[in-house]
Amino acid sequence: MNKDRPNAPRNGVNTRLSHPPYDPHSTHGFVNPPVVRGSTVLFESTEKMRRRSELPFTYGLRGTPTTKALEDALSELEGAADTILVPSGLAAISIPLLAFLGAGDHCLVVDSVYSPTRTFCNGTLTRMGVEVEYFDPHIGAGIAELMRPHTKVVFLEAPGSNTFEMMDVAAVAAAARKGGAVTMLDNTWATPLFFRPLEHGVDLSIHALTKYPGGHSDLMMGSVSAHEATARELRKTQMQIGVNAAPDDCSLVLRGLKTMGVRLERHMASAMAIAEWLEGRDDVSAVMHPALPSFAEHELWKKQFSGASGLFSFVLPVGFREASAFLDALTLIGLGYSWGGHESLAVIVDLSDRTIATGPETGTLIRLQVGLEDVEDLKADLELGFAAMAEAGLPS
Ligand SMILES: *Cc1c(COP(=O)(O)O)cnc(C)c1O
Repeated sequence: MNKDRPNAPRNGVNTRLSHPPYDPHSTHGFVNPPVVRGSTVLFESTEKMRRRSELPFTYGLRGTPTTKALEDALSELEGAADTILVPSGLAAISIPLLAFLGAGDHCLVVDSVYSPTRTFCNGTLTRMGVEVEYFDPHIGAGIAELMRPHTKVVFLEAPGSNTFEMMDVAAVAAAARKGGAVTMLDNTWATPLFFRPLEHGVDLSIHALTKYPGGHSDLMMGSVSAHEATARELRKTQMQIGVNAAPDDCSLVLRGLKTMGVRLERHMASAMAIAEWLEGRDDVSAVMHPALPSFAEHELWKKQFSGASGLFSFVLPVGFREASAFLDALTLIGLGYSWGGHESLAVIVDLSDRTIATGPETGTLIRLQVGLEDVEDLKADLELGFAAMAEAGLPS
């Protein structure tokens, strides 16, 4: 941390994004860290080699000055002691689960979790001999009743993937901690700008940096930020598995972070405008957006989060065929997975793997990622979809 530069937590978040902990004077004053690629790090002597645990860089897998600059930037944003980087958001979920679970352990997972998290839990974790149990996102302090002596991890996501259920994070985290479990929260939707899980009693904050931090749909990466107490175990497992993020991609995420605050302001405003517009339509049966006052857990969102990003869902009062006609008619909004980039995207959501948070009883759920385009153009594109849906719904 450069003591001469204004990067204290007292500063506003855009100031902090503009002035990350990296010290330009450590590299001749260049504003951004160089892309340092490398495997071998040379030591000055056998003595230095023997005492390498005291050195910041010892081998490429452990990181380079570029990866370290991103780790430090994320730790500062999350209020964490350390952050590890991994090659995808999904690896930022699997690695901490592997770090804190073993055969015979019990793991509680919120039912509205990102679907590939569930696939990992039901696949690899179950095969390892971990007992996985899903719980209602509205459980709150009631999680205490599900805690068992061998419950080692409670895995959260807030809001829930695709259906956006809000939970009382502090209540769940407190009960989990009392029961001796490590809590992890997938914080991808909010980013550390709108929610800082470690301040609510959560042990690990997980991000798909692929989304808003990257921000341009041109890379994949994940991160896990931790307090001192859990950081060491996390780092140990990362090194045992042998993954880190590529320095070139880290440099792109460092670039993305500089504009994340202003991008999110725009994502938030545009998504709200479109959510309100959709809510007023007769051909939309529901809008699931935590910042809408009509949303069931709106108050829980307001109490805990300082903003909403650009991803939400809405329900079309039609079947799969008409909803497909809606999506196929869009010209600007792309059909594609992932989100958090500059461009708008839509997908039909499949909730068939859920057991508790099963979503709307009728209609077809559409997830919309509102990008940085002009709102009027996005509305005009959605109008094309509504027209095509109406046409597909007409009796032939
Ligand atoms: C996309 C996503 C991930 C996974 O990120 P990838 O980089 O695509 O592997 C994890 N969690 C949530 C909530 C996501 O939306």
